[in-house]
Amino acid sequence: MSDTGRLNIPANKISTVEVKVGEVFEERTLTVLGSQVKQEIADRLKDNLRALGRLKENGYKVGRLRPKRFVNSIPLKQCGVTYGLDFARNKVRIQKLGEFRVLGIHQIPPGAEMANAVLVRKPSGYYLHVTCYLPREHFLRKPVGEAVGVDFGIDSKLTLSNGIKIDFEVHETPRLKRLQRKLHRTKKGFKNGKKVWFLLRREYERLNNRRRDAQNKVLAFLRLYEKVVFQDDCVKKGWAALFGGQVHSSGIGGLKSRLRTSLEVPVVVGRSEPTTRECYACGKQHELSLSDRIIKCDCGWECDRDVNAALVILERGLGLSRDQAVGLDRPELKPPEREAAARLLGSNPCIRVSFPR
Ligand SMILES: [Zn+2]
Repeated sequence: MSDTGRLNIPANKISTVEVKVGEVFEERTLTVLGSQVKQEIADRLKDNLRALGRLKENGYKVGRLRPKRFVNSIPLKQCGVTYGLDFARNKVRIQKLGEFRVLGIHQIPPGAEMANAVLVRKPSGYYLHVTCYLPREHFLRKPVGEAVGVDFGIDSKLTLSNGIKIDFEVHETPRLKRLQRKLHRTKKGFKNGKKVWFLLRREYERLNNRRRDAQNKVLAFLRLYEKVVFQDDCVKKGWAALFGGQVHSSGIGGLKSRLRTSLEVPVVVGRSEPTTRECYACGKQHELSLSDRIIKCDCGWECDRDVNAALVILERGLGLSRDQAVGLDRPELKPPEREAAARLLGSNPCIRVSFPR
């Protein structure tokens, strides 16, 4: 890192590296990395440096570069060379490392065309992330509805314009809290402290997995509509834009940014639109306090405030005039919608769904 001139040495030819041990450098031989893998790691390092350079140019604070003790992910770019899968024996072969038994290989559908993979180390173990290509037919699903409006409430709540309410919250487990307390108590540097720290990281990983699963299921359900309309709030620029959803990976913020990227036709309504205070039927603005759960208008319209907001969002997103939107306000929850919601969302204990009466 301190000698950027070395970045141009062909990495695949490097067979020894210098490692700082105390105050002196020791020469070590690289034994288990294939030449392609070495090249990929070097390329990735260069990409990262370039990205950091761009950030610095744009006025972001970039800290001092520090050496890294570990690499937690190793790119394996060429299926058949750097890695190979044996479906019949549940095994994976990694260049120069040998063969390993793997779980979950059945998740790759037959006929998939394998591309690159990444070997990842997580607190819970080692994983191989495989990218594969499937024919388009594999992803075609029959839509359950034409368009749906989504109102994002505070505290992890989604209200759809058809009256479905989805509430998901992945709480910290008692075990996590216990481990946090324990880590706080153990003094730094103790052997026991290291173990607690490791267990804590594993528990965080599990929590993130649960959160991700809940998000995945909500996304899978919304993807069954041809159009999804939601209101965008301030999109954070900079880090969030560069690194996708990783910065705010939990809860609603993460779900929103994933909605934006994963739906084929996300329709977004600008954040300045006053959707929560507007009567859907006549457009009159109302003063609502947070405790008002129902919007009641002089025109005779009476509706749950969140459903009302979702309807306004839907109407705006589709660009409908008030006359064209007739009928949207009497949404019927069709049996396929109800069935799909129960099937996809009901399988996660952290998600609560309620249907309109
Ligand atoms: Zn009204």
